[in-house]
Amino acid sequence: MSAHNYNEIRRIIFSTANNPNKGFLLAHEWLDSTYKSKLGYKGYSGLKAELNFYQRYGQDFKLTVAGDMGEHADFSGMYGSLATRFDVTTNIDYKKFSEYEPFMGNGISYKIALYDKTNFEVIDVLDLAFPNCQWCGEHEIPFVALLGENYNRHGMPLMHNDQPTFSVCIGCQSLRELKRNIDFIPSPSEYFERHAMGETEEQRLKSTQQYNIEQYKYFRREFTDNLMGIASHSYHMTDRKGDGYWSLNFTFQNRAVSDVLPFEIECGHDI
Ligand SMILES: [Zn+2]
Ligand SMILES: [Zn+2]
Repeated sequence: MSAHNYNEIRRIIFSTANNPNKGFLLAHEWLDSTYKSKLGYKGYSGLKAELNFYQRYGQDFKLTVAGDMGEHADFSGMYGSLATRFDVTTNIDYKKFSEYEPFMGNGISYKIALYDKTNFEVIDVLDLAFPNCQWCGEHEIPFVALLGENYNRHGMPLMHNDQPTFSVCIGCQSLRELKRNIDFIPSPSEYFERHAMGETEEQRLKSTQQYNIEQYKYFRREFTDNLMGIASHSYHMTDRKGDGYWSLNFTFQNRAVSDVLPFEIECGHDI
C-alpha cells in the first residue's frame, strides 16, 4: 500500500470519527471491514491503535489529528499544561530517540503512546535515550565540560585541559562523571581570548559559538550519540569582596533538550 493510499484511508477514518452523525462506532466498523485487508496487518494494527488512542484520550489530551506534514507525530495536544506531540506505536523496540530529536524543542514536549492491545502506556521520548536519576527519578542528560588549561604546582601551563563528560539530572541537578578526556582543547573562554584576536567582539562571539558547535559534534561522535551539550566552568562573583560560587554553564545545547536542561549547575572548583 502506498503512503498516499494509507493517508487517504487514515483521513477517511478520522473524519468519520469526528463527524457527529457518524462517530467512532462507524469509524471502527469501516476500519475493521472495508479497509482491513487493503491496509495489510501492519497498517491496520497501527491505524486501529491510533483510533483507539483518539477515542480514549481525545478529550483528556485535547488531541487533534496531525496531518502527514513531516512532523513525525500522529496527534498534537496537551499533556498537563505542556503542548505535546504524540506518536502512537504498538512496538517500542523499533523506536529511536534520533527519529524524534529533529522535531523536539521550542516548548513542545514529545510522548509515545505504547499500545499493548488493551491499554496505552504514555512514555516520554526522553526515556528512549536517558536513564533515570537514582535520587529523584528524573532523566540524566550527558554533556561535556571544556575546562580551562591545567597548570603544574609551579604555575606553569601544561598545554592540556580536562574534558570530563558528566550527566546532569534535570530534576535535582546532581552530577555524575561518566568519562574524562585529556587533550589540548581550549575552554570556550580560552578560545575567545586566544584564538580570535584581531576581530570585532561580535566576530569573536560568533567564532566561539562555532567552536562550541564543532566540539559538540566531535565529542558526540567520539563518546555518545546521546551527548546533548557543551559547558564551561567558571567562577561567579556575588559581591565586591570576591565571594561567589563555581558553576557549569551551557555554551551549547542540543535544541531537543534545551527546554529541560538547567540554566546553570552549581559545582565545586575542582571537578
Ligand atoms: Zn535527580
Ligand atoms: Zn576548576
